Amino acid sequence: MALAHVLGVPRIGPNRELKFAQESFWRGDIDEAALRTVASGIRQANWQRQHAAGLDGVTVGDFAFYDPMLNHVALLGCAPARFGLGASFGLADYFQLARGNAACHAMEMTKWFDTNYHYLVPELKPDTQFSLGVDWLFDEVAEAQTAGFKPKPVLIGPLTFLHLAKEKSAGFNRLDLLDRLLPVYAQILARLKAMGVEWVQIDEPILALDLSAEWRSAFERAYHALNSAGMKLLLASYFGPLRENLLVALKLPVAGVHVDCVRGADELAQVIDWLPATRVLSVGVVDGRNIWKTDLAAVLDRFDGLHQRLGDRLWLAPSCSLQHVPVSLANEPRLDPELKNWLAYADEKISELSTLKTAFNGGRQAVAAELAANAAALAARRASARVHDAAVAARLAAVTTVHDARNSGFALRQAEQRARFRLPAFPTTTIGSFPQTPAIRSARARFKQGELSAADYTAAMQREIAHAVARQDALGLDVLVHGEAERNDMVEYFGEQLAGFAFSQNGWVQSYGSRCVKPPIIFGDVSRPAAMTVAWTRYAQSLTAKPMKGMLTGPVTILQWSFVRDDQPRATTALQIALAIRDEVVDLESAGIGIIQIDEPAYREGLPLRQADWAHYLDWASRAFRISASGVADATQIHTHMCYSEFNDILPAIAAMDADVITIETSRSDMELLRGFGDFNYPNEIGPGVYDIHSPRVPDTADMTRLLEKAAQVIAPQNLWVNPDCGLKTRGWAETEAALANMVAAARSLRQQHAAGEWKCNREIV
Ligand code: GLN
Ligand code: ZN
Repeated sequence: MALAHVLGVPRIGPNRELKFAQESFWRGDIDEAALRTVASGIRQANWQRQHAAGLDGVTVGDFAFYDPMLNHVALLGCAPARFGLGASFGLADYFQLARGNAACHAMEMTKWFDTNYHYLVPELKPDTQFSLGVDWLFDEVAEAQTAGFKPKPVLIGPLTFLHLAKEKSAGFNRLDLLDRLLPVYAQILARLKAMGVEWVQIDEPILALDLSAEWRSAFERAYHALNSAGMKLLLASYFGPLRENLLVALKLPVAGVHVDCVRGADELAQVIDWLPATRVLSVGVVDGRNIWKTDLAAVLDRFDGLHQRLGDRLWLAPSCSLQHVPVSLANEPRLDPELKNWLAYADEKISELSTLKTAFNGGRQAVAAELAANAAALAARRASARVHDAAVAARLAAVTTVHDARNSGFALRQAEQRARFRLPAFPTTTIGSFPQTPAIRSARARFKQGELSAADYTAAMQREIAHAVARQDALGLDVLVHGEAERNDMVEYFGEQLAGFAFSQNGWVQSYGSRCVKPPIIFGDVSRPAAMTVAWTRYAQSLTAKPMKGMLTGPVTILQWSFVRDDQPRATTALQIALAIRDEVVDLESAGIGIIQIDEPAYREGLPLRQADWAHYLDWASRAFRISASGVADATQIHTHMCYSEFNDILPAIAAMDADVITIETSRSDMELLRGFGDFNYPNEIGPGVYDIHSPRVPDTADMTRLLEKAAQVIAPQNLWVNPDCGLKTRGWAETEAALANMVAAARSLRQQHAAGEWKCNREIV
């Protein structure tokens, strides 16, 4: 008899109840007891759902008031000493770790593997001590037991915990803390055992990463130690194949192993070969990273034989925690029925597991209706005219090297662009957005609700654009932007106008803390029925004699921040989007826009987890960008923008995008980030951000001049632009104007030094 379970489910609640309760608590509108009541309701509903679907036990410990890694910091009693907390503390303290307080900045946050979820980064020092901290996990186990469920607690494994943590002082290796950490894990396991827990899921997703020999060999040591607790451990790996870590994982002294059979589909045979005789194998057969229905018949065909062999040692599961997909299609009343029938959110994925389990154990005829409905939905999707557009396919097939390169090399283009725009040395610009004021948001909301006519909405946005252009003109910026007033979100804005995209009403997934995002769904071939930005940009250009920079989101970023098709490679979808963006670039050029920025803030985060897969990704990603950018004349200047990246390991691929100008975030790293560009001899022009837009602080001119001087030591001064780190949409107008005035002054001061001959620069001073 096959079993079924989940590695974790969304903790946000079907209608983002946790978010609203958290935020009310932070505002002081509700007390801790009220927040805890909401949390408990979400957990109970999640367990009830798993139980009702006939899953074997319920998963406990996937809930967190902010983040599971932070929960482990609390559980392991290792909150950063700078907060001055004891080993055990309350919920208000917990939130301070996540959000900071008057005395301490918040713990750092970073992306969880290649997902869009952000975890809080544990801070480790050579003297970090671990001990049993807060009791919340044990409380939740008891809570599940009291409600009559059989809990399977989930822990983040000790190696993943250490690996994802940050060394907060130099000259020590966080792996050295393992021996101090393991006894606390053993205590946790012992306590769970005493509570009557049979299985503990222990997540070690770093097994899907490139690990050094040192980390790989630590697994054996760690799991021998944990094994002595006498608890049945299910070691879970996910987000990719195990590859050279496969033997490490399969030889550990644990009672079961979970593998990702979606991303690691190709190595299943090897996993089975090496699976020790008595071990449980949990197979992640339902995609936990995407929203499409599972091909149930294919899973049954593929695993029937294995089920015969393993019997109740075969567990069925989603590939990873379901926290990366939205909660339930039941909350999507307005999604069109045809598309909805192709989808499965977390709730529906649990139903799929239930159907699979019944089919394995009771025969396919026991769920004949479910299987038939599943097969029909899949067939309908495969055949749908809404998915396949012959014109898009034909166009993609006709793409050649003519389309993925500019007409001339950078040097020629640069000369033409300089002659055309006659910009001063150290030209100033911004990254695109200006403050999204409450007035803008309310006009957009009223327009969407039909309270504002299209004409009135257009007029309102034009007023905002005119204001932004006038302010920039007055500040003396050199290359202006229209300010993106009309855009709700840099991906959604384009997705809403492109064919092949759908938008859900309630498809929220947690991004971090109380923040959720609603990624668009790319379901079909992508094309651009009509111009998307030309009218706004042309209007903005009509208001000024300065060049107006057109503003677009790039193909890789649109892809990366959406749920994508699983019926064709990501690269194909990216190239389709690239052609759509290319159409927009060409139309902007025809409308007289000479400078066009194609933002790619997600370029680096699209990197595969394994380095061996990078080259392939970077090849199609840079090609997608070039296809989007290469339909224009040499005299048209293409910019791109990336934020908060570590660039150094992908500089050749950034150069391969061949943008005439790249703007990047550098101010917080004090221009250190730029050194890589200098060492690499990055050939094109660069705008290193000179001030941090995440802070309301207005930087002074001297600060920015110093940063620019520093930049000019590693980048040829004639290739330097002057701009903030990123868009200004989250800022207010007063601080924005003050900061930009100082920034323009910094550029002018540099121009004077330059004119005084301090730097040999061939760009003219205007
Ligand atoms: N053009 C966008 C803006 O200014 C870029 C945002 C981003 O890089 N994430 O808002
Ligand atoms: Zn940015």
